Amino acid sequence: QASAVALPSTTTDFPHSHEKIASPPDTPYFLDNQFVQSQASQWIELHDPATNNLVTRVPQSTDAELKAAVASAEKAFKSWSKVTLLSRQQIMFKYVALIRQNWDRLAASITLEQGKTFADAKGDVLRGLQVAETATGITSMMGEVLEVSKDMETRTYKEPLGVVAAICPFNFPAMIPLWCIPVATMTGNTLILKPSERDPGAAMILMELAAEAGFPPGVINVVHGAAPTVNFILDAPSIKAISFVGSNKAGEYIFSRGSANGKRVQANLGAKNHATVLPDCNKNHALNAILGAAFGAAGQRCMALSVCVMVGETKEWVSEIAERAKELKVNGGFEESADLGPVISPEAKRRIEDVIASAEKEGATILLDGRGAHPEKYPNGNFIGPTVIANVKPHMRCYTEEIFGPVLVCLNVDTIDEAIEMSNNNEYGNGTAIFTRSGPSASKYQSEIEAGQVGINVPIPVPLPMFSFTGNKASIAGGGANTFYGKPGINFYTQTKTVTSHWRSEDAVATKASVNMPT
Ligand code: NAD
Repeated sequence: QASAVALPSTTTDFPHSHEKIASPPDTPYFLDNQFVQSQASQWIELHDPATNNLVTRVPQSTDAELKAAVASAEKAFKSWSKVTLLSRQQIMFKYVALIRQNWDRLAASITLEQGKTFADAKGDVLRGLQVAETATGITSMMGEVLEVSKDMETRTYKEPLGVVAAICPFNFPAMIPLWCIPVATMTGNTLILKPSERDPGAAMILMELAAEAGFPPGVINVVHGAAPTVNFILDAPSIKAISFVGSNKAGEYIFSRGSANGKRVQANLGAKNHATVLPDCNKNHALNAILGAAFGAAGQRCMALSVCVMVGETKEWVSEIAERAKELKVNGGFEESADLGPVISPEAKRRIEDVIASAEKEGATILLDGRGAHPEKYPNGNFIGPTVIANVKPHMRCYTEEIFGPVLVCLNVDTIDEAIEMSNNNEYGNGTAIFTRSGPSASKYQSEIEAGQVGINVPIPVPLPMFSFTGNKASIAGGGANTFYGKPGINFYTQTKTVTSHWRSEDAVATKASVNMPT
């Protein structure tokens, strides 16, 4: 029999520091509103990216634990799907308030486990919180009714699917679980959440708050681990839908195996977001916007602007981009002065440094080299300084691969048409931005560019939760039919039932059967 344990001290005591933890506690799983110590035989060590000190061990959930999580969610679905929308809404109001009260605590867990700066981690929480806030308004978004002819009406009902699952990436430990939890549960589903095995702390705090807000046991259960847990989710017959955010390698596999098993799958994948800079733009705004979007979160955002397409004379501005980037401070995420923290792991650091080396070998110009940067206080962290690479050509590895680090690659073209063509030829199509003062240029760009999210003088145009997170090309599986949050998010998590009814006074009922389609 599983027994309840406490959350690790790193999430309850709100440490706000990179100090070594004396005896790092294990991360429990979450079942029926209780934290439970796993009986796992395999554990994944989680290290603070700023120091590489051990923070916690994350279990590879056992088969029995995975089955128990699904059985509990199946049982909870029977009653949760019958709870009135207004009662679910009351729970969501409380959840929203609790997330706001625990904002700093959530952000501290993110900085400790993921590495991003504390200020940026607060943004991670906020963008998820906004999805929860918007989900409280779901009462006005569920179903439609129309009187289709006299005495006849058609209405649609949005019914929950059953047990659904979410598989999350490491780069937004609060936001991405919160893309799923509010929409899945408010529509009446129960949810199996698998946070990234690299930073589950924020998701665990979100579970403590979910129980406190009044979610009944089993409505949200958390399991842990890597590929074996994902494979279990992909094959579990009672899981009806899967939400995935992460890399193309994992996501394409998850999309095809999940779909082949008859499940709905939404999968947001990798990116290589291009910024097009026109000579008529507000230069100061454009350069600052690009720097923030390229190097914020150490470039580990799916909406990072990692490619700059300099049009015409703006190629002369690249050295200024490098000069300004040099001013950004790399430091432990809890340090006030930090503009960017470390990358997630020593392997990620090695891979990113390898891509920088390949650019040098292939003939690009390294204008600013972040390799070897480490703040004095954190000699063992996975730090890379801002890196700016100029004279990049489309065949180079630094252009073709998603780098997912603080590296900005710059290419030169002569016209806006060439910039659009280059961006459209790139396999990814998550987001893009154009910097210009010209309405016609912006309008041309917006209509011809093949990207899910377009910013006009806006570097990271992530849609707020009343819209939906749209992607294009290789950045989203299944051609982008299923997108997260907003109305499409509600559609993803529900089955639409359409009921047509006919109410006519008894004396008006026809006496003979009609066998033809009504004309
Ligand atoms: P990842 O694909 O390595 O991991 C994501 C999830 O998949 C994790 O929960 C992990 O356990 C699981 N996983 C990993 N490999 C697997 C395998 N072989 N089989 C089964 N499951 C597997 O991604 P990550 O490194 O955590 O996140 C970074 C990636 O996510 C980047 O490519 C980034 O662009 C992308 N991302 C995309 C969006 C978006 O909305 N488009 C948002 C955030 C991140």
